[in-house]
Formats: sequence, structure tokens, C-alpha cells
Amino acid sequence: MTSRVAFVTGGTGGIGTAIIKRLADMGHKVATNYRSEERARAWADKMKADGYDILLVKGDVTSADEAAGMVQEIEGKLGPVEILVNNAGITRDGTFHKMKSDQWTDVINTNLNSVFNVTRPVIEGMRDRKWGRIIQISSINGLKGQYGQANYAAAKAGMHGFTISLARENARNGVTVNTISPGYIATDMVMAVPEEVRAKIVADIPTGRLGTPEEIAFGVGFLSDEQAGWITGSNLDINGGHHMGW
Ligand code: NDP
Repeated sequence: MTSRVAFVTGGTGGIGTAIIKRLADMGHKVATNYRSEERARAWADKMKADGYDILLVKGDVTSADEAAGMVQEIEGKLGPVEILVNNAGITRDGTFHKMKSDQWTDVINTNLNSVFNVTRPVIEGMRDRKWGRIIQISSINGLKGQYGQANYAAAKAGMHGFTISLARENARNGVTVNTISPGYIATDMVMAVPEEVRAKIVADIPTGRLGTPEEIAFGVGFLSDEQAGWITGSNLDINGGHHMGW
């Protein structure tokens, strides 16, 4: 198989770590960003102990300048970015009638504006080389909405509009653009939810359990595969049947 250069944003988190391992296991050279020196060092040590040598670049995806700088550093060290996974994300939940403006802007900046900031510096190179894979990690709640998540659902739904437009613009240039919409995954974010609330969520999932980060990573591996060249503008639901259709 061809070894590619992959950039996974937010790779030090629960789902991002699994995505990085999957892409590295497929033989790709993988980079991710970090913001806190201390957290990044602990993460890199653990990854090294597991046998993964990942390039870490410092930067915040809400800044277009920092995103461009990260891409430049990765390309200087590993070569052109051929697989981009827009995975960095946050939640700042609250019902809309009480939502503060910074809860809205922080979530839109991190989950949606970041997608512009990071994709923009890689897209021209992908078009020129006639090969690229761009994958957005959206959410089940960007499809069905969620109480207390007007900000998050708006950002995650925005990723779908971005995906299907970019897919059209770049289809003739060998660049595929797709979205994955995870359901509830057993990461720190979801395990922090009170147990009785989590039990209600699980009871609503047809498979009767939360998903694993590795199950999301499997989807990223699939969509970034050489053979996935005719899959573009699609949304892959990985949610245990929790939400079906639009
Ligand atoms: P985590 O909180 O574990 O990881 C989020 C990652 O994003 C961290 O590495 C974090 O870095 C990074 N990040 C956040 N803000 C920024 C920023 N401004 N600039 C750069 N990096 C940033 O989340 P998960 O792994 O659970 O989620 C990953 C993605 O999957 C997110 O987009 C989330 O919305 C989505 N998702 C998750 C679900 C779940 O059940 N967990 C369900 C559906 C979707 P730092 O350490 O610096 O904060």
C-alpha cells in the first residue's frame, strides 16, 4: 500500500488517539496538534511506549495563522498532507435561552471555523497532486439535534454542508470529502455524564452499548483507503443504530 502523510487535529483526545493509531497501523506517517506542552509530552510518551512515533506540532485550530503554520511544519518534516481528519472539538452545553455568547462562539470556532482554517492550507496541494482524503468528525447530534446543544449541533450540522460542497468542488481532482457522525462513544467526555443519564442514553441505543473510539477510527481507515476513491460527499453514521437516516 502507499504510505501517506496524515494530519489528525485534536489527536491527543479519546477518539483522535484511536484514529492516529489506525492510520499509523495502515502504514501512514501521522501528525497531530497540541496546545499544552505538559499534556502533549505525557501523551507522546504513552504513544511511544505503545510503539507509535507521532509528529506533534503546536497550535490552536481556531487560529487561521496557527493552522497554516502547523500545516507548513508538517509538510516540511513529513511531506505534503494527503489525509486530513478534522477531529478537534469541544462542547459548552447549555439551553439556548441561557446560552452566553462565548459558549456559542467558542463552539462554532473550535468545531466549525477550524475546518476552514485547517482545510484551506492543504486543499490546493491535494488538488494539484490529484489525490486527497478529507474527513470531518461530526456528531449524531448534528443530524438530530440535542437538548442543551444548539451551539454544538449547529457547528456539527455545518460540517455536513461544508463536506458536500467541498466534495462537489474537488471530485474531479481526486480529492474525496466525507463526514463521520459518531454516536455516543465511551470517552472521558461521555463517561463524565452522570451514570443515570448515561444509562438512559444506552437504553436508547439499539445495540445496547456505547461505541468505542476504535469503531470511529475504523471508519476513518475505511474512508481514507486507496479503494475509497468513489466515496465522496457521504456521511458515515457510526452510532449503534441510535439515529437512522436524516
Ligand atoms: P476529547 O475532548 O477527548 O478530544 C478533543 C481534542 O481536540 C483534544 O485533543 C483537544 O486538545 C483538541 N482541541 C480542542 N480544542 C482545540 C483547539 N482550539 N485547537 C486545537 N485542538 C483542540 O474529545 P473526543 O475524542 O471525545 O472527540 C473527538 C471529536 O469527536 C470531537 O470533534 C467531538 O465533537 C466528536 N464526537 C465525540 C463523541 C463522543 O461521544 N466522545 C460523539 C460524537 C462526536 P486539548 O487537549 O488541547 O484540549
